[in-house]
Amino acid sequence: MHVQDQQEKLQVVNPATEEVIATVPAVSPREVDAAVVRAAAAQAGWAALAPADRARLLRRFAAAVDGHLEELAQLEVREAGHPVGNARWEAGNVRDLLDYAAGGVERLTGSQIPVAGGVNITFAEPLGVVAVIAPWNFPMPVAAWGTAPALAAGNAVLLKPAETTPLTALRLAELALEAGLPEGLFQVLPGEGPVTGTALVEHPRVAKVVFTGSTAVGQEIMAKCAAGVKRVTLELGGKSPNIVFADADLSLAATAAPGSFLDNTGQDCCARSRILVQRGVYDRFLEQLESAVKTFRAGDPADPETQMGPLISAAQRERVRGYVPEDAPALIRGHVPEGPGYWYPATVLEAAPGDRTAVEEIFGPVAVVLPFEDEADAVRLANDSDYGLSGSIWTRDVGRALRVSRAVAAGNLSVNSHSSVRYSTPFGGYRRSGLGRELGPDALASFTETKNVFLSTEEQQ
Ligand code: NAD
Repeated sequence: MHVQDQQEKLQVVNPATEEVIATVPAVSPREVDAAVVRAAAAQAGWAALAPADRARLLRRFAAAVDGHLEELAQLEVREAGHPVGNARWEAGNVRDLLDYAAGGVERLTGSQIPVAGGVNITFAEPLGVVAVIAPWNFPMPVAAWGTAPALAAGNAVLLKPAETTPLTALRLAELALEAGLPEGLFQVLPGEGPVTGTALVEHPRVAKVVFTGSTAVGQEIMAKCAAGVKRVTLELGGKSPNIVFADADLSLAATAAPGSFLDNTGQDCCARSRILVQRGVYDRFLEQLESAVKTFRAGDPADPETQMGPLISAAQRERVRGYVPEDAPALIRGHVPEGPGYWYPATVLEAAPGDRTAVEEIFGPVAVVLPFEDEADAVRLANDSDYGLSGSIWTRDVGRALRVSRAVAAGNLSVNSHSSVRYSTPFGGYRRSGLGRELGPDALASFTETKNVFLSTEEQQ
């Protein structure tokens, strides 16, 4: 592990221009320790607040985010290269999730279970200090998915954003303070994963780690959590299928497909990067897909017409090139702007099951297409993956839609749609895509311990 001293700075680069837009001090392990102590102190007071007051403060935080939606979106455009339309949705998602979590505070009830000889009560108690470790691909929403329900359930949160994208997280922490959240309750600790992240994961007073990122790092974090018997939620990678049956509305399926693997320049854990097409319509689908991919607009993220921005960094572009160089043969290839910026064109490849491009998460604007024969073949191919995060099924047959949804081993499936994420519905992966669920009605409960108390009603002698 390399040593990060207190002076180390993170450079934030606009991926569309390659300009340094900010430098942010990295938080040292010693500072992490002090942050945990402050968080624990703030958490005690936060948990003791009347639930209605906690909910009110979270709603104020949501209102503060709402009042700065455009500013947050513009920051996301500049630090992550997201098209502004997407960035606005992301900022809105943070607000909505804070509001939704606030609504859960007063509904986080325990239970009374009938037993002999007394009264048996369960309480949902906060865990204490929770660490949220976020990736760079959706810096704002993913940070909020862990943070909002953890705060609502009475915990303090220490959020470590990714090295390349700390700015929106830092702004959210300022807005939390402006909204009246207690000092120390929600702190943002930028820094390098192996240094600042490790210090958080290994800290004995951190009770739970919520990690979103690569499967390899997730495994490492899970092992460390096992050593400390800590709770852990993992949202990891994916290689999700987009299954197009011959009875689907083909033009709808072809028009929607580019968004499902080009959105966020393919740096999306839910990207439908394996397109499985029934043999009879394979050629027709590909023709329609080609025109849809070629009209998917790559360009300046600040332009509201733009649909695809650059990759996050030069390193990420090298990673994608490692799978598919820009001059490698491809079925379909889109266009990207000339000049600075970490651009990589939309690319569709033919692949065979087992090919590296058909198996590994590329995390760039690249999809593979594979033909299938029938429903059983489609399910077999869809499940031929170590991952299981999401997937789409295009068919007009309702029975088939449900059969295939039940047969595909993935946490989030959509029928005649690619939509996977709603703050009010559970999100997470099967297999190596993760552990646990975020969002939805059970999110708050995943940040609590269940305490059971038995109270004897026997007459005391
Ligand atoms: P990453 O694993 O490299 O980093 C994620 C975060 O972990 C960063 O904040 C990083 O600094 C930190 N980190 C790195 N090493 C660490 C360590 N040893 N200890 C503690 N923290 C450490 O992932 P990334 O490249 O930022 O993100 C891309 C990955 O995230 C992709 O695989 C993608 O599929 C996945 N992802 C999953 C979801 C989901 O919900 N399932 C959502 C978004 C992204």
